[in-house]
Amino acid sequence: MTKHIAIIGGGYTGAAVAIQLSRQARNAHRISVVEPRETVGAGLAYSTSDPDHRLNAPDMVHFLTPDDQQHLRRWFEEQGGARYDAEAETADGALFIRRGDFGRFVAEQFAAHQNVNPSESSINHLRDRAIDIEQSGAMFRIALDSGHSLTADLVVVATSNEKPSIPKPFASSVAAHPAFHANPWHLPSIEGIPIDARLLFVGTALTAADLIVTRLRLGHRAPIIAMSRRGLRSTRRTTAASTFTGPFWDRIVRETSLFVAKHGRHEGLHDLINALRIEIQAAEARGEPWQAPFDDLRDSVWQVWPALPLAEKRRFMRHLRPWYDVHRFRLPPQVETKLDLAIGRGQLRYKAAHILSATSNGGGITVEYRDRFSDAVHTEDFGAVINCTGPEPRPDRTENPFMQALISRGLARVHPVGVGFDVDDTSAAVDANGGSNPRLRMFGPLTIGQFGDPQGTPFILSHICTQMPEIVKILEDN
Ligand SMILES: Cc1cc2nc3c(=O)[nH]c(=O)nc-3n(C[C@H](O)[C@H](O)[C@H](O)COP(=O)(O)OP(=O)(O)OC[C@H]3O[C@@H](n4cnc5c(N)ncnc54)[C@H](O)[C@@H]3O)c2cc1C
Repeated sequence: MTKHIAIIGGGYTGAAVAIQLSRQARNAHRISVVEPRETVGAGLAYSTSDPDHRLNAPDMVHFLTPDDQQHLRRWFEEQGGARYDAEAETADGALFIRRGDFGRFVAEQFAAHQNVNPSESSINHLRDRAIDIEQSGAMFRIALDSGHSLTADLVVVATSNEKPSIPKPFASSVAAHPAFHANPWHLPSIEGIPIDARLLFVGTALTAADLIVTRLRLGHRAPIIAMSRRGLRSTRRTTAASTFTGPFWDRIVRETSLFVAKHGRHEGLHDLINALRIEIQAAEARGEPWQAPFDDLRDSVWQVWPALPLAEKRRFMRHLRPWYDVHRFRLPPQVETKLDLAIGRGQLRYKAAHILSATSNGGGITVEYRDRFSDAVHTEDFGAVINCTGPEPRPDRTENPFMQALISRGLARVHPVGVGFDVDDTSAAVDANGGSNPRLRMFGPLTIGQFGDPQGTPFILSHICTQMPEIVKILEDN
């Protein structure tokens, strides 16, 4: 019997759910993807039109179906390869494709499945925004911004990355100041900053790196400071031979993950980090890069994280996440080279400091900060401040009405770790009373509390592919 599945959010995650469902279902179903953007597939991460914003990992980890992990490379060649994008290929033959192009690739695969798919399901893009959800018996009713509504047998939540919250020193004083850029992904306002404005990036990771490079390409002349408490800059990709051989997928869907196979399951962060340190020292003694053992851990997080007690997970989020993130999310080499040049000529500086206050000085913003190492307090004027503190991880603190509704209706709750939604190990939402709902599934970065690192595309896809047979069973056996 035909069922109706509503997917809320049509970025990479929503597109991948629709594609996998249409491929794995035995019967034809009605699949609706609710997404306000023009196409389904790009989402926030891959809708940038900036030619300097590139994937942060090579082509072979960005795919939509595990049986064709070379698809993106072929697609790139079809576009014209180096003639189409001369900067994409690095010296070792890896492709770091522009993020906007990857968004187009995903949108094309989604459209191809709308035209034809193995289960002959219908796949519709509803260009709208979900604002409310209620469950009545076995059915869901979803209210849309346009005033229309949907009823669905099963709902998948894939709303993911929300704009960053405004850090405290800026929140009350300059949040509405024209020189304060609260949303780093609103490219027109970043492009509109005058080239002689002293720039402060609050945050030193990949989003800051993206936008620094954007400003440099636009001919930015004034000094640029990127500041965070620890001043940690995203790390580099190894230039040694690849840290693994064989298809990436095989590393992340093993029965026992690589790190667990070597070290067993740790219940304490201390032992876990120690095991990693020993591995890294041994690798470096053999002349191998730290990235190889680190990647074994990254590709095992889905098994390592659930074994940690809640208190250890919270400790990780409070203290270790910034270190994990800068080692895990690496700069595309093209971006790294441009940053290095700006550092070399003294235009760009990274600073570890605690921001104390921010006040308007008319056209710009005066920022007072304490240097992490010298403890000295400094005051500096900036022509623009850009908030690059990362997507807001708590759904209840976002302005997204649909996420708010999931919580206020009791259908979902924030994960006890304090980030993302609470889901069980099948990605089913856990409700306000602690019961899991197999007809309300969540995939992608929203499930970070449960899975630890469901952020990169292959990890998102592995969760979707693992759960899809069960989702199909629920739909077709009832
Ligand atoms: C700037 C950035 C760059 C990244 N680069 C990479 C990379 O190079 N490689 C990699 O593997 N990972 C990268 N990531 C990680 C990224 O989160 C995942 O790879 C993946 O793109 C997540 O896709 P998504 O669809 O879950 O989220 P998103 O891309 O955030 O898309 C979510 C979609 O949901 C829609 N939505 C939100 N609320 C509603 C609502 N109420 N109703 C309807 N629709 C709604 C939004 O419009 C949006 O299109 C990046 C993340 C960011 C933020």
